Amino acid sequence: MRPSPLGLLGLSSLSLLVRDHGAEAFVPPTLSPRPSFAPRVSAEADRVARRPGAFLRMTAEDAPNGEKKKIVVIGNGMVGQRFMENMIKYDTDDKCTLATFCEEPRAAYNRVKLTSYFESLDPSKLSMTSEFDDDGRTSWYEENGVELYVGDKAVSIDTESKTVVGESGRTIPYDVAVLATGSFPFVPPIPGRHRPGVFVYRTIEDLEAMLAYAKENNVQSAAVIGGGLLGLEAAKAVADMNVTSHIIEFAPILMCRQIDQGGHDALVGKIEELGLEVHCGARTESFVGADGTSGDESEGSDSP
Ligand SMILES: Cc1cc2nc3c(=O)[nH]c(=O)nc-3n(C[C@H](O)[C@H](O)[C@H](O)COP(=O)(O)OP(=O)(O)OC[C@H]3O[C@@H](n4cnc5c(N)ncnc54)[C@H](O)[C@@H]3O)c2cc1C
Repeated sequence: MRPSPLGLLGLSSLSLLVRDHGAEAFVPPTLSPRPSFAPRVSAEADRVARRPGAFLRMTAEDAPNGEKKKIVVIGNGMVGQRFMENMIKYDTDDKCTLATFCEEPRAAYNRVKLTSYFESLDPSKLSMTSEFDDDGRTSWYEENGVELYVGDKAVSIDTESKTVVGESGRTIPYDVAVLATGSFPFVPPIPGRHRPGVFVYRTIEDLEAMLAYAKENNVQSAAVIGGGLLGLEAAKAVADMNVTSHIIEFAPILMCRQIDQGGHDALVGKIEELGLEVHCGARTESFVGADGTSGDESEGSDSP
């Protein structure tokens, strides 16, 4: 067994960047509708949020007799999925058809339960519909007449021709396009953040990559950057992998948005009883590898 090649400030070999309140709403620039379209999008979003069914009526009201409106949902996350379920529920006259671009390699799953994946290692346990097949699909989509494009990221919307284009080249016409693209974790520009062994904590693929890395590199120790709710959840999951888990928090206390010093003191006691190590008031300055540097080939790229 060889030691893992990476270290964080000399502490660890696997690092998770977790900022539960640091997620940023994600509208890819290439997907931004043209400015003339933007006000209508927000008005629609507002109506959907305020009155279930209003969106459907608005969408279907100018549909010629017998013709269906096509709604293309970009993003098959929790929100995109619930939106489609509600559309189906309220579309009792069958006036709409649905299609969804799904960037991830499987259909919608419950991201809130992500940490439970460490226990089951079964994506289907997180599915928002039913069991995934080998292509990441579930029977729900076919049963409900929803076209699902798994692993196909929408890369552009043409509001003139009213089409959405996927990374695969697939071009889908729409009457209404719904952006349900969610968010992405905010990664501070810490040197070394692109190195192998540094992960964000958001998708099943992140967890699979983390587990594979830990196994391949015989990881003994991990640093979780961020001592909020999500960070603590991740740190416990890491500890359950029999890896020493260090929680690195910039603020002087854990969960600083939720609890005060007294709460922190009690919480730290409980966490340390579980064998986790807490480092508050600690600023992460760099991710340093066994080579003593924090540089890597992809340094400077925007993606974590
Ligand atoms: C570990 C963890 C625990 C959490 N726990 C809680 C909790 O306890 N309580 C709580 O309220 N919230 C929690 N959250 C937050 C919650 O998961 C999110 O608020 C929720 O997932 C948001 O749903 P969404 O559909 O808007 O976005 P997302 O879940 O981010 O889904 C958006 C989907 O769109 C896809 N997408 C993006 N761009 C494109 C494109 N161009 N083409 C096609 N697809 C695209 C993305 O890949 C993604 O699959 C947690 C999050 C995590 C990561």
